[in-house]
Amino acid sequence: MVTTEERKPMGVRLANLDGAAQLITDPGRIDIAKRSSGSLPGDPMELLGRMDELSDWASSIDLADVDGPIVTGSLGPPVPRPSKTFGVGLNYRAHAAEADMAAPSVPLIFTKFPSSLTGPESDVVLPSHFTDWEVELVVVIGRRGRYIDADSALDHVAGFTIGQDISERRVQMATKPPQFSMGKSFDTFAPIGPAVVTLDLLEHPEDLAIGCEVAGETMQAARTADLVFDVPTLIAYLSTICTLEVGDLIFSGTPEGVGAARKPPRFLADGEVLTSTIEGLGSMSNRCVNSPHFDAGSVR
Ligand code: ZN
Repeated sequence: MVTTEERKPMGVRLANLDGAAQLITDPGRIDIAKRSSGSLPGDPMELLGRMDELSDWASSIDLADVDGPIVTGSLGPPVPRPSKTFGVGLNYRAHAAEADMAAPSVPLIFTKFPSSLTGPESDVVLPSHFTDWEVELVVVIGRRGRYIDADSALDHVAGFTIGQDISERRVQMATKPPQFSMGKSFDTFAPIGPAVVTLDLLEHPEDLAIGCEVAGETMQAARTADLVFDVPTLIAYLSTICTLEVGDLIFSGTPEGVGAARKPPRFLADGEVLTSTIEGLGSMSNRCVNSPHFDAGSVR
């Protein structure tokens, strides 16, 4: 045990192993419900609303005494059952430009249904030849609220994690006007992880390097400081529409470098590995596999 004098709240990394919340430390993982003898819940969704308590508890235990290593491929999405999952379109100027669109004057919001969530090393199932990558900073809500001021918005954040807003471009653009949500909500189209990281672990949470690689080739490399609508503004805006609940996710938009904007266009292919990295949050690695219902020609 750490002595009382040395105890101070600390930043935490919260992950999900088979539904059981894990504290991620340098040497491995600590099962939170087990180690706390049930004083803290094992459900990651419940812990997201108790991050201060979790942080306080984490500062009281021996973090080197782990329950096991972090086995590759074992983690699930650190937020497994959010009530809402928002996406933000065209929220980096250079990405709006490559899409040949003006940056929006109000946030362009769509949804990714929570059923599209998957783990940080899970397979992404490709329904067609038109499936694209979009690395994104994902905001995890930790305190419910409505009409939240931008000034206090970060008090409502449990932490940040990495996300991929995988997008089937034909379905996304199939109608006029386009309706983004369906093309972004196929099962497995929202890998997140590896952990929810509290903001006190990030030196400059408003300016993080963000990028992704496909089959080892760098496709996106930018900084979150280039967001058109920053995280506090997005939270304030969304909370004028609906109550933000603990565990709600905001995929805050992708920078330039998506496949659809390349000449020629370049999409994800069977067997390719998509690696997504954000400074201070770690990285995710997702293998792409063709769906058994793969159909290059149809809109589905
Ligand atoms: Zn996106």
